[in-house]
Amino acid sequence: MHMSIAQFYPQILEQAENAIVVVDEDDSIVFFNSNAERLWGRNRDTVQGADISLLMPPLKDDQQTQLPNQSGINLLVGHHVELPIERPNHTRVWAEISVSRIEITGRALYLIIAKNITLHKVHKALRHHVLQVMVNTESLQEVLSLLCQEINRIAPEISVSIAKLNANGRLYMLAAPDFPSEYISQTSDVEIGPQSSPPGLAAFRGEPVLARDIENDPGWTTGKHEVLKLGYKACWAVPIKARDSRVIGVLVFYYRVCRRPNKLHAQLAEVATSLCMLAMEQAQSRARIHHLAFFDNLTNLPNRSLLNVQASQAIAQAVRDNAQLAVLFIDVDHFKQVNDSLGHPAGDALLCIIAERLREAIREVDILCRYSGDEFVIVLTQCDSVHATDLAGRLLSVLSASCQVGEVSLAPACSIGISLFPEDGRDMDTLIHTADMAMYQAKQKGRNCFSFFSGQLNLLAKERFALESALREALETNRLKLYYQPQVNIESHLLHGIEALARWNDLQFGYISPTRFIPLAEKCGLMSYLSRWVLNEACRQLAQWRQRGFTIPSVSVNLSPSDFHNLKLPQYLEAILRSHGLLPGDLLIEITENVLMDSNPNAMRIINEIHALGVRLSIDDFGTGYSSLAYLRNLPIDELKLDQSFVHDLVRDRSTRALTNAVMHISDSMNLLAVAEGVEHSTQRNLLKAQGYQIVQGNLFSPPLPPEELENWLGENLSFTQWR
Ligand code: C2E
Ligand code: MG
Ligand code: MG
Repeated sequence: MHMSIAQFYPQILEQAENAIVVVDEDDSIVFFNSNAERLWGRNRDTVQGADISLLMPPLKDDQQTQLPNQSGINLLVGHHVELPIERPNHTRVWAEISVSRIEITGRALYLIIAKNITLHKVHKALRHHVLQVMVNTESLQEVLSLLCQEINRIAPEISVSIAKLNANGRLYMLAAPDFPSEYISQTSDVEIGPQSSPPGLAAFRGEPVLARDIENDPGWTTGKHEVLKLGYKACWAVPIKARDSRVIGVLVFYYRVCRRPNKLHAQLAEVATSLCMLAMEQAQSRARIHHLAFFDNLTNLPNRSLLNVQASQAIAQAVRDNAQLAVLFIDVDHFKQVNDSLGHPAGDALLCIIAERLREAIREVDILCRYSGDEFVIVLTQCDSVHATDLAGRLLSVLSASCQVGEVSLAPACSIGISLFPEDGRDMDTLIHTADMAMYQAKQKGRNCFSFFSGQLNLLAKERFALESALREALETNRLKLYYQPQVNIESHLLHGIEALARWNDLQFGYISPTRFIPLAEKCGLMSYLSRWVLNEACRQLAQWRQRGFTIPSVSVNLSPSDFHNLKLPQYLEAILRSHGLLPGDLLIEITENVLMDSNPNAMRIINEIHALGVRLSIDDFGTGYSSLAYLRNLPIDELKLDQSFVHDLVRDRSTRALTNAVMHISDSMNLLAVAEGVEHSTQRNLLKAQGYQIVQGNLFSPPLPPEELENWLGENLSFTQWR
């Protein structure tokens, strides 16, 4: 029995899975099995009897094996070594080799067992090479292109592309070194989904997708001709997954023949996708680190470093354009108190709120940064002192709106210093410094205000800002008054109506004309507040007069363009009328053509809704606007008020007379009531009367009067006979 197994030994060795070589004491090869033939790529006839150095050539420097020297095979006994094998056909494979010494009937033999480990080696090399590049370069594209090229070097039959899956569910091409750039740009933005090409499908499903024969692939509909045109006939797309198995990209192998991937390809894909994952995650952490380095952690605003970079670019641009630039230095008033009394989390919350308000207030081209603690800097590009004043005023008002921090409600306040380029500094450091100094000046003025670095501008801005604060206060403390001016029918001498006109007599600034404070209210966002007050007060007064027996047909109230931004205006009018027990016909709204010229899409809708309520509308200062007459046709108006400048020139200027006559005809033909305002002299009245004007308003009859005086006037002029 023993004898019979021994007799099969050569066959056992022959069929073993490993490559087996037996060498005698003189280093000559005495046995070479068929797997050895496959590994070394040599026929056993050509090696039998040859020296073992034929199979294990001298080692080169870069091969990190511990082979001592090539002569003594006995030195390898008991070791596992990895050796490169050069095949006669010049390809190279790697083998893991172990050598045992055996003795048979007193004769020493060496048994060499070898295994092909090329794939494993390839992985290691690929990994090594790519990782090395990853350490040394910042560009994800570069790393991935290199990976594509490495794969192509190992398996020249493959062309590789790598795409990343963006947050919006689209594939963005990162590397495809074998493909022409037009193809890359064409396929750079692919939506993933069940209907998309193999890369998109692989990303969608999270598993590999094979198109063995692109031309006849039924699932692939769009974009395949571009691929075919480049000579590719098959492709294999493998998803790249993050550590948490989310798909973050796709690796695609393209082949020039119809085929499926082999074992090597599968293994390459496995290594490559894990390398892609590493590279992509690394790129992401780089981005995160960049963010940490250039953005403030708390508010997410750019930090000082980024400000320096961006601001010097902005200054360079301003120099090129010969433009101005403003730097605002903003400091939160009493921030320390907030921090001390409410705690740091509350302080942080407040800073975030302020940052958000600042962010919303500036344009995209401006630069906003958290400079330090409670200090922010804004660089306003293309900005002069007027704009800077505007913004600073607006900032103070938006910043001071009350907000909820933790359990308490705060009204934050800031002090703002402004410096201008080039006057106050030619570089960022100087500009920030001068703005900072101006900010201190603002703090000294009493906080919650702004200050220019330059003294003279400071005065102007101060005045405007002071006026604005005074107006705000006047509104809050009910210091605004309404005067009323009668409108009279020249024929019947009856009272036609009254116009309410706002009056402001400020404690500090004295009388301020509505031509000054109305635009100011528009600018600083007080208009809607002011208009509400006027509407309410005018209606209240009319209702009270009616109750006391005065016959006043209606009251006219002036509204401004910004009032027509408020979609609730009609509702509001209705509510006011109702609350004072008035009818819609008791109120007339005067608007100017600016309301229509303002590029506000809601104006028309609001006007129509007001009309639908039954409240009448009048076009004030008619003839001074620039809009075409065509708009009149589409407006549901009841009245035209001839601008007073025409009335003024009426007597001495014939062409003005022609104009007022034309206005009369227009109103007549459109069934509108024409009102002439600013009538000061009887000659004007007579001319207007001759042209057909029936309703007049002006100092000739009465200037705008406070309520008590209007009552007297009504009493004295009850018969309306004295102007005859
Ligand atoms: P407006 O609506 O065209 O008002 C007529 C202006 O002419 C008033 O000026 C009035 O005092 C003035 N006026 C009246 N009769 C005569 C006259 O015989 N001769 C001259 N030279 N002027 C006369 P006021 O009150 O200074 O108002 C100016 C403008 O301010 C108003 O023009 C109106 O556009 C606006 N305004 C006044 N009050 C309000 C208001 O409550 N809300 C809004 N949005 N605007 C108002
Ligand atoms: Mg008016
Ligand atoms: Mg007017």
